[in-house]
Parts: sequence; structure tokens; C-alpha cells
Amino acid sequence: MSMKYDLRDIEGIGPATLEKLKSAGITTVEALAVTPPRLLMELADITEDKALKLTQRARELLGISFTTAREVLEKRNKIGYITSGCKALDSLLGKGFETQAITELIGEYGSGKTQICHQLCVTVQLPLEKGGLGAKALFIDTEGTFRPERIAQIAESFDLDPTEVLNNIIYARAYNSDHQMLLADEAARLVPENNIKLLVVDSVITHFRSEYPGREVLAVRQQKLNQHIHQLLRIADIYDVAVVVTNQIQSTPDVFFGNPNKPAGGNVLAHGSTYRIWLRKAKESRRIARIIDSPMHPEGEALFVITPAGIKDAE
Ligand code: ATP
Ligand code: MG
Repeated sequence: MSMKYDLRDIEGIGPATLEKLKSAGITTVEALAVTPPRLLMELADITEDKALKLTQRARELLGISFTTAREVLEKRNKIGYITSGCKALDSLLGKGFETQAITELIGEYGSGKTQICHQLCVTVQLPLEKGGLGAKALFIDTEGTFRPERIAQIAESFDLDPTEVLNNIIYARAYNSDHQMLLADEAARLVPENNIKLLVVDSVITHFRSEYPGREVLAVRQQKLNQHIHQLLRIADIYDVAVVVTNQIQSTPDVFFGNPNKPAGGNVLAHGSTYRIWLRKAKESRRIARIIDSPMHPEGEALFVITPAGIKDAE
């Protein structure tokens, strides 16, 4: 994406406002243009009138209004694909994990969600001809299960220098949902400055579930989760980034027919995610991946194994 314009080009943005926007994670005209004015008001602590004017001017500057289908196609043609290192899993998704999209990995404990996230942090660094994007990764860890040792192990299996691979992964631990959302704001600043093409949030839902338990607070929880998912969608869309999030399984004991298990996060995640992959455990290190809720993908499953060398096709 061309970064022709600077926030300072916008009338009404002086040094003080610039600082406020920066601390809210808005560092580009593009980011300003797509931030809802009401959210901008809160984030940057400015008046509604000012927020409306600034987003309006950012949009005018970029010429954002309607676009032609051809331009949409041109943008879609820029979509990048990150290999998972497993052919079956890549072809389940078409060509791999896509930029400009949120891919959600759903599954019970031990199903391989975190392992796939680790692997993608390595494979995004591969050159284009090897299925990567020659770019860096950013990892937001909410459960404390990120393991650099595991990254090094996987890097070696791809003939990459482990130290270099570790240097190209920017990491943050999120301690609660508010912190997680602040980190996502910060990510919006880091992504364009650091050639980051993969943003992982593992898991996207844990803090929200534990901080807002019970039906009385469900609406608030879903509203905050929705805000968070939109932060991630904007990053994916504006900066051409593959966002990969993990999600848990929730059991609904009141279901009498069919599967009593379903992904947590309800409609917010179901609508926010571009692709949803449900992982199941099979024998030993074998795992089965299935795409759910996708009108664009044929029904199908991919088999893979979790090995010391990472995720691989099952023999
Ligand atoms: P949770 O919901 O608890 O976060 P998860 O879906 O993230 O679960 P993972 O941590 O990705 O699960 O997967 C754990 C599985 O990966 C275990 O079966 C473990 O044996 C396997 N695994 C982890 N590290 C290695 C390794 N170095 N070599 C082989 N298998 C490994
Ligand atoms: Mg995990």
C-alpha cells in the first residue's frame, strides 16, 4: 500500500492531536479514515465534532468513497498466502493462510492450535517461492503458551537460522482483555513500520470469557469482543496482513440433537472471521482439520501430524 500521505497533511491535526492519535495507535491516514468517529472520540480523547471532521478529511484525502469492482479485484489480487508447511491444510484453505483475512483456529485443548500458530510465525518468513511472504510476525499471547524454543526447533526443520527467525517475531503477553485491545492498537502502529504480514492472537477469547462470565454480562462481553475483532479486521484489511486467531470449544448441554459442542464467541466471531477451521484430535499425533461456515470452500478435511519438526502432512 502506498503511504503517500502523512497525518500532518490533514487540516486540524497539530502536534497535540498528532500525539493523541499516535497514542491511540492511529499513525496513518488510512487508519484514521477507517476508524469509526465514535471510537476515535474515545481512543484519542477528542470531541465528536473533531472526530467526525478528521475522519472525513482523511477519507477525502485518500479519495475513499465508492470504488469500482475492478479496483476491488486489483486489491484482492494482492492477497498473499502463507504456507502451513502441510499441503493438505494449505489446500483445505485454497493456497494457505490468506492476508486481508482473519482465519480462526477452533478446537479443544491439545488439538494443535498453538502449534499451527508457532509454525506460521516461521513459514511467513520463508521467501515467496517457498510459500512464505518474506516478512515478520507479531504474536499476542494471552495464555502464556508461546515457546521460543519450539520456534527454534521448527525454524531448523525449515533450514532457517533460528536466531534470525526469533528476531523476526515481535511478541507481547496480554494480561487481560483491555490490555489485549491496547496491544492490538499498538499492533496497528507496528505492522506497517516493520514489514509484518502475520498477526497471531492466541487465544482471542480466553480473557473475554473469564472476565465476563454469566448471562448478565454477555452483552457487554460481546460488544467488547466485537470491537476487538474489528481492530483486527482493520489491520488485516488496511495493511494486507494475515490475522490468525485461536478459539475454544464451548459445550451447550441444552442441545438434544446434533453436536453439543460449538465454537465460543457466538455471532461476533462467526461473522468476524473470514475462515474458520475446526481441529479435532485423532490417534496419537494425528489431527483432523475441517473448514466450517464457508460458502466458498467445498466440504473437506485435512489430515496432519504434530511432529518435533512441526506440523506435517500425515504419511
Ligand atoms: P489449548 O486449547 O490447550 O491451547 P492447543 O490446541 O493450542 O490447546 P497445542 O498446544 O497446539 O494445543 O498442541 C499440543 C499438542 O502438540 C500436544 O499433543 C503435544 O504433544 C504436541 N506437541 C507440542 N510440542 C511438540 C513437539 N516438540 N514435538 C511433538 N509434538 C509436540
Ligand atoms: Mg494453545
